[in-house]
Amino acid sequence: MSFLIVANWKMNGTRSSFVDFIGKLNNKSNRITSKLVICPPFTSFPDSIELSNNVSIGAQNCHHKKSGSYTGEISVEMLKELRCTYIILGHSERINETDGKIKLKSEATIESSLHPIICVGENAEDYKRGKTQEVIEYQCKNRLPTHGEYTVAYEPIWAIGTGHVPSNDTVEEVIEVIKSCTDKKDVIYGGSVSSENIENLLNISNLSGVLIGSASLDFDRFYKIVQQVERTYQL
Ligand code: PEP
Repeated sequence: MSFLIVANWKMNGTRSSFVDFIGKLNNKSNRITSKLVICPPFTSFPDSIELSNNVSIGAQNCHHKKSGSYTGEISVEMLKELRCTYIILGHSERINETDGKIKLKSEATIESSLHPIICVGENAEDYKRGKTQEVIEYQCKNRLPTHGEYTVAYEPIWAIGTGHVPSNDTVEEVIEVIKSCTDKKDVIYGGSVSSENIENLLNISNLSGVLIGSASLDFDRFYKIVQQVERTYQL
């Protein structure tokens, strides 16, 4: 199983910047053995025609219904039509999303044969109060589907976009909690991953990948992280 590197562009990037990024990635991809998933805004999806084998396109959200009167929403089948194969679900920036909704979306994604990346993570207050494991366990029980293939992303809310990362020990403990709730083996980490801290993060045992926000917007910064992963895992 290849190491998974997911780029979450959030509401950033134009269609031309996406084409430029994918072009650069395609040029390098024959030297990359990791699995790369780029999640641009929906507007860039039609531009993802030419992709190397190890590069996939992911969405940052979906609706759990196939169609209907849901203004502003997009279904898994619509995303599939645009060659999307992964969907990030339950990201903490998508406020007001309940655990139940995240589970429904995950199940709809699996039903359409796409791969959900389901986020879990505690907020700063719970982290300070030592409630991390309890929160993660609760989220796993209520967000994760009962069948199908999926990846779980541990994304402590206090680490996203802040430059702070949990200790490797904390991430390892959380991975254990997640694995005790599900037989799925793939757990990735997200939250201020950068070219400066990736070498240390790769010492985390049982880590199957990383989810990268701001450091994925610039190709050179992103590619530095990819190169470090390749040096650590694939050579
Ligand atoms: C994210 O958006 O999931 C994320 C981890 O962002 P950042 O890397 O900027 O903290």
